[in-house]
Amino acid sequence: MDNCIFCKIIAGEIPSTLVGESELSIAFNDINPRQPVHILVVPKHHHTDVAALAFDAPDQLVDLIQLGSRLAAEHSTGSFRLQFNTGIEAGQTVFHAHGHIMSTTPKNGMQTTTEESSALA
Ligand code: 5GP
Ligand code: ZN
Repeated sequence: MDNCIFCKIIAGEIPSTLVGESELSIAFNDINPRQPVHILVVPKHHHTDVAALAFDAPDQLVDLIQLGSRLAAEHSTGSFRLQFNTGIEAGQTVFHAHGHIMSTTPKNGMQTTTEESSALA
């Protein structure tokens, strides 16, 4: 979809730090992490939010959660919080469905970038 920042990331038109991919979803680090592990899991096809995704393409939602849980085990202990901001009043700012995979506990050796670390301070 035109002018969708996540569609542009998926198309490779905007850089991101990719951390994983499946047939239907991709995952990249949030540009402004709020936790030591803060990964966005995103369907490759455009849907406005997780509600639309659940109704229109539940297979893509399941795939997204499977990718997120796999990455939580890779990048942290496997414990994670999964947040879907849905609608402006809930704080959604990017209107391409996405889940925030967050964990306070990065796995040994997994470091955020300097830029990301300063955003945490
Ligand atoms: P929302 O508030 O819509 O649930 O979350 C959108 C998230 O996307 C925010 O946490 C924000 O930091 C992240 N974000 C916005 N633009 C970009 C970008 O260009 N690259 C990356 N990696 N994350 C982004
Ligand atoms: Zn999009």
